[in-house]
Amino acid sequence: MRSAALLLSLCCAAGVAQAAPASDADVAAVVKTLGMGSLGATMASLVIDSTPVLKALPDAEQTCAQAPVRDLLDAQFRRSIIQGLGSDGDVVIAQWSRFLVTPAGQALSTTFASSTPDNTEAKAGAGLAGAALPEEHGGSGLGMVDLALIVEELSAAGGGSTLGQLFMINPIFGGVPLSLFGSEQMKKDLLPRLMTGEINFCMALTEPDAGTNTLAMKSYAEAQPDGSWRLNGRKIWITAVDAAQKMLVVARTAKSVEGGRPSDGISMFIIDVEREGLTYSSIDKVGTQTLSACSVFFDNVRIEPHELVGTLDKGFRELLDVLNTERIVTTASLVGAGRLAERLAVQYANDRKVFGGKPISAYQGLQFPLAQSHAELQCARLMNLNAASLCDQGLPYGTEANIAKLIGSQAASHAIERSMQTMGGMGYAREFHVERLWRDARLFKFAPVSEEMILNYIAIHDLGMPKSY
Ligand SMILES: Cc1cc2nc3c(=O)[nH]c(=O)nc-3n(C[C@H](O)[C@H](O)[C@H](O)COP(=O)(O)OP(=O)(O)OC[C@H]3O[C@@H](n4cnc5c(N)ncnc54)[C@H](O)[C@@H]3O)c2cc1C
Repeated sequence: MRSAALLLSLCCAAGVAQAAPASDADVAAVVKTLGMGSLGATMASLVIDSTPVLKALPDAEQTCAQAPVRDLLDAQFRRSIIQGLGSDGDVVIAQWSRFLVTPAGQALSTTFASSTPDNTEAKAGAGLAGAALPEEHGGSGLGMVDLALIVEELSAAGGGSTLGQLFMINPIFGGVPLSLFGSEQMKKDLLPRLMTGEINFCMALTEPDAGTNTLAMKSYAEAQPDGSWRLNGRKIWITAVDAAQKMLVVARTAKSVEGGRPSDGISMFIIDVEREGLTYSSIDKVGTQTLSACSVFFDNVRIEPHELVGTLDKGFRELLDVLNTERIVTTASLVGAGRLAERLAVQYANDRKVFGGKPISAYQGLQFPLAQSHAELQCARLMNLNAASLCDQGLPYGTEANIAKLIGSQAASHAIERSMQTMGGMGYAREFHVERLWRDARLFKFAPVSEEMILNYIAIHDLGMPKSY
């Protein structure tokens, strides 16, 4: 956790606490800490550039001084609290998050890391991309709860919801399939490099003609006599292809499986982006400019036998772990973005006076919408941490991850929209960041999974209603 603490305290030093502009050294230190290569640089500038307008949590130091440190470090304790969904659970999590940004948190985390000398160096080098990945391959061996907290804090510190995408590409699109289903050789070759940012990942699932109906995908990897495959097909809206060296590609390996389910005959591969027959072109989009999104074309692309990840023809079920952890990271970044918008709005409204000497924050007309958003964000946060906790315990978490994503994207959109309303014209100005948060968060009402499809899922799986499509 040393890396997390370092980064969060750097965010703090770079502006949240003192509103001082970040130096090149700050940026360099953050990039090193992130361990995500050039994408780390993008993230660092996102967080740091946004922070000078933000105010510190005034009670952070005090809260941390009072926090029972041993309890904060005890992962089991935290998870049991989250699971119990008691109101104290959120308080403990909030204390933990705040604690990490303080010098005491940083010092303790350093001590914590060096208490196991054998893997200190690996942990230090792993950076945040490796927070939830296995220690034996250089990760920190933490879990989705910790990853969700890291993403939420960084998003709230200035990154907004696009920051979650930076945590999807390597820890989720690469890290999850490799650590859960990869061969030992794959893990050894790819996980350490993924965590240092030497290689970046993207995930190619969505197709132009299938869209939300992923099982209708047509990309087909045809088995060859020598054990390899030849891949033909098209994908659309694939994030960060131009920044990636590796692609998790999902394709049919059997056109139809007699007596099987529609999800049979689908497999996952990890292939090189730079490969004969693979081309891509970027799509101009509204927001989330941190990373591009591309159309991808496969024209007889050769896939080597060792590039299959997981079980041949049974990859769809395994893919669900990638998609559900992606939802957890997405929700964490949305909650962070909502918190950030809320803080910017309150700060602005407390200063802004229009009629007489009263700040506009004194009007209930402005208070109630923000208070409502605050309540919604807290609910999304707790549901997301619940999903993450279940995932870490190896229990089913699909429903919780979906519900958290549904409520998280709505709560963030409400919070950002209401913040913009609170700030009037200034909410529309680039300088105040809310317009960026607004554009970015809009994406997550339909991606990576749409509101409608989550409602379909709840109706069918949780309520036992018939499938309508
Ligand atoms: C910026 C961006 C980045 C992305 N990154 C990636 C990526 O990295 N990898 C990847 O694989 N994909 C990615 N996607 C794709 C994304 O996951 C899809 O856009 C999303 O799943 C919706 O699919 P679609 O756009 O084809 O919408 P469609 O499937 O065409 O759906 C359109 C609308 O119809 C609704 N609808 C469809 N069927 C039903 C139904 N049965 N009941 C009710 N409503 C329904 C949908 O909810 C939606 O509102 C990205 C998309 C964007 C825009």
